[in-house]
Amino acid sequence: MVVENLEKVEKNIRAACERAGRSREEVTLIAVSKTKPVSMIEELLPEGVRDFGENKVQELCEKYEQLPGDIRWHMIGHLQRNKVKQVIDKACLIHSVDSLRLAQTISEEGIKKGITVPVLIEVNVAGEESKFGVAPQEAEGLIREIAELPSIAVKGLMTIAPYVEDPEENRKYFAGLRKLCVDIKNKNIDNVSMNVLSMGMTGDYEVAIEEGATMVRVGTGIFGERDYTI
Ligand SMILES: *Cc1c(COP(=O)(O)O)cnc(C)c1O
Repeated sequence: MVVENLEKVEKNIRAACERAGRSREEVTLIAVSKTKPVSMIEELLPEGVRDFGENKVQELCEKYEQLPGDIRWHMIGHLQRNKVKQVIDKACLIHSVDSLRLAQTISEEGIKKGITVPVLIEVNVAGEESKFGVAPQEAEGLIREIAELPSIAVKGLMTIAPYVEDPEENRKYFAGLRKLCVDIKNKNIDNVSMNVLSMGMTGDYEVAIEEGATMVRVGTGIFGERDYTI
């Protein structure tokens, strides 16, 4: 089932790339495996999938220990400062930085481990109370402050768009985030590259690709519904 789902998602990604005149290589599919067993991840490895997303540090670390070392683990969930040191040398990218305090902790722990930690800035595109992320107008200021820190490097932006029935409703937010990313990139801030745009989930990844996503995070569309009662 997982492999069939992957094939459907892959087909949709290719079609969206084609509509947008983009090459498939510009878009990384992150299979969001949170709450799902290691055995389901293993089904995808022969298909060539190597990018997996988790939203909890403990779960990411457990799966990291059990699975091959060439998997790229993406930390996509809200990150608490006291868990930073466990995850920074296991995740290839932290998608969810939204405060200077968190960035400072990442930088301090990065120094201790002798690594530079790549991160994205999470932006709350629709101003939803329930969501993490900085307001769009605060993103540049935060990035300028983080750029001054050693051992952390801003690579781009991430958003979790509103939950909507019709993905077209999110097109304006994806287009807006892309514009924000380009605007900040054009400021040529030292130590900041802005080449990554992580946006689009199961309900809206095709629209996100049409609007410039370079990473889409698809969970349900590949692994099926999540059961939080177990
Ligand atoms: C769970 C999650 C996803 C995947 O959501 P689906 O709708 O199941 O594709 C993507 N991004 C983040 C940050 C998530 O927490």
